Amino acid sequence: MKINRITGTVTLFLAAGAALVTTSALAQESSSHTKRPPHTTPAVPASYPLKKCVVSDEALGEHGKPVKVTTPSGKGVYLCCKDCVDDFKKDPEKYGAMVKRAQAKK
Ligand SMILES: [Zn+2]
Repeated sequence: MKINRITGTVTLFLAAGAALVTTSALAQESSSHTKRPPHTTPAVPASYPLKKCVVSDEALGEHGKPVKVTTPSGKGVYLCCKDCVDDFKKDPEKYGAMVKRAQAKK
């Protein structure tokens, strides 16, 4: 039964190696998670108070990637799509104020 013993040892080695690889991969993943959020680009940050587009009132992300615009006074606003940017530009401070109000509620 010499062969069986050798195979057993090899299997043990492989198992130990796999365990090591898994542990280090997990450690790497968890350390990168503490530094930054997952790799998928966060379209709208968690700090943003609204889930909806202030122009169209549609859910952000429903028409693809939300678009970030900034009011002349420097307020970041997220819109559901590029089409809403034109409307936003007509009265940016009005929409900026909507975000501000939502933030104040929080
Ligand atoms: Zn839109």
